[in-house]
Amino acid sequence: MSKKLIILGSGESGIGSALLAKQKGYDVFVSDAGLIKDQYKKELLNNNIEFEEGGHNAERILAANEVMKSPGIPEKNEMVKAIRKAGIFVISEFELAYRHKGNSKILGITGTNGKSTTTSLCYHICKHGGLDCALVGNIGYSIARQMAEDPKEWYIAEISSFQLDDTQTFRPDVAVLLNITEDHLDRYDYKFENYIKAKFQIIKHQTQSDYFIYNADDEVIKKYYPLLTTNTNPLPFSMKQEFKKGAHIKGDQMMLRIQEERVSMSIYDFALKGKHNQYNTMAACIAATTVGIRKEKIREAISDYAGLEHRMESVASVRGVEFINDSKATNINSTWFALESMNKPTVLILGGTDKGNDYTLIAELVKEKVKAIVCLGLDNKKIKEAFKGLVPKIIETDNASKCVDACFKLATKGDVVLLSPACASFDLFKNYEDRGKKFKEAVLAL
Ligand code: ADP
Repeated sequence: MSKKLIILGSGESGIGSALLAKQKGYDVFVSDAGLIKDQYKKELLNNNIEFEEGGHNAERILAANEVMKSPGIPEKNEMVKAIRKAGIFVISEFELAYRHKGNSKILGITGTNGKSTTTSLCYHICKHGGLDCALVGNIGYSIARQMAEDPKEWYIAEISSFQLDDTQTFRPDVAVLLNITEDHLDRYDYKFENYIKAKFQIIKHQTQSDYFIYNADDEVIKKYYPLLTTNTNPLPFSMKQEFKKGAHIKGDQMMLRIQEERVSMSIYDFALKGKHNQYNTMAACIAATTVGIRKEKIREAISDYAGLEHRMESVASVRGVEFINDSKATNINSTWFALESMNKPTVLILGGTDKGNDYTLIAELVKEKVKAIVCLGLDNKKIKEAFKGLVPKIIETDNASKCVDACFKLATKGDVVLLSPACASFDLFKNYEDRGKKFKEAVLAL
């Protein structure tokens, strides 16, 4: 009898898992409380995978051997509660994929900020170095789907904390932990400790043959990592101290040391600018070294990398005013790093759906660098209160075009207009991509 596997949720992870599970001989049933996208439905039908939408058949679900819960579904969901109560084994997509990866290897990247940037940079380096690899995970393409449709020697995976939940044996050959700051606490019983634990899950099962690449300047990582007992090979990166192995930046040089090999590179050759990206670049370089990419290839790849949309993306210069789209900055830490990298007077666009920001964290930088704040959101009270007295001008707008016009009026030649809102976008936009696109359209229409 084949194992009865329920796939809860029919997004990219759910459909990818269904395809892989079907191929591996499970008895698969996909269940979604909402509607399943047409294109996904077609794939399920083509692969003879049973499904339901618009509700859950609890009886069928509770008769399963195992449930793959999609990362977007919270524990407070009634069906999930019933599944837990019935004691059914719950796995995640990464657990399923790990089980069936064969001889392939996984390089997994997690952290609160910088995951997509670092994962794509790492993929870019690995591809350039000739590795047989695929870019998967939170970045948009399911790892399970990739395994089912086009297996590779290496999977370069962006992994969110939600994707690490319900992994019981998952063990990446190379794990990267970029940073940990408060985020998504609503999913972790408002306990930071729980979120930290979820992130460290990435190394829980690692062994002596694996690598753990981590940010040794991150206060939270520094505090919690020594409390764990792991067997992995640590490879720290830092701007404050040197380690025997790992990477560090001193002055304008990055030094990379792994095994006997030493590499030195100028940070001016990094394609990605800003301090946060120097951390991301260090992480990606160490990771690429562990998978065997040669140093000349790494050097070439980090200097010609084009970057991702909506992350410190340079949009245009209009009459001497530079516009930067950092719409992906949906928490205060991202905005801190964006501001930190500014070296011209800045008109800062803030606002949207606040996830519990403590604006005092950026107050110093705002005072030093920001000449005006333009709010782009429905409720801007908290921002106005946090920055009145610190910034000469605070203006409120409620759409991208009014916002860009206001910024352009406030800016003079040599200034930067920076959209790095520190908030989610759902009050005025579909998502951060929509916000970034509308911002860019408005800039290009000036
Ligand atoms: P994630 O995939 O983790 O959400 P992204 O690479 O998409 O991260 O970047 C999200 C935002 O975080 C960007 O706007 C960027 O300015 C900021 N950011 C990128 N890397 C870091 C980092 N290492 N530390 C803090 N902020 C960062």
